[in-house]
Amino acid sequence: MLRYQPPKRVCCMVLNEPFCHRRNNDGTIDSICTRCFVTAGTAQNESELPEIEHSHTCDPDWVLRWQPASGQ
Ligand SMILES: [Zn+2]
Repeated sequence: MLRYQPPKRVCCMVLNEPFCHRRNNDGTIDSICTRCFVTAGTAQNESELPEIEHSHTCDPDWVLRWQPASGQ
């Protein structure tokens, strides 16, 4: 059922926390993927963050662009 498979190898190589959170002035929270540097989404509160982050999938092209030395 679960089609989402977190790229754990990449995650552990970069950071323990794959998403960084930025709180906005209006109280919403942006979740930014630290692997592909894309904003995964904006949550109305912290309880929405796991869902947003779970549904995010890194674009492999972006990951390769930011990490040119890996996998070659
Ligand atoms: Zn990503």
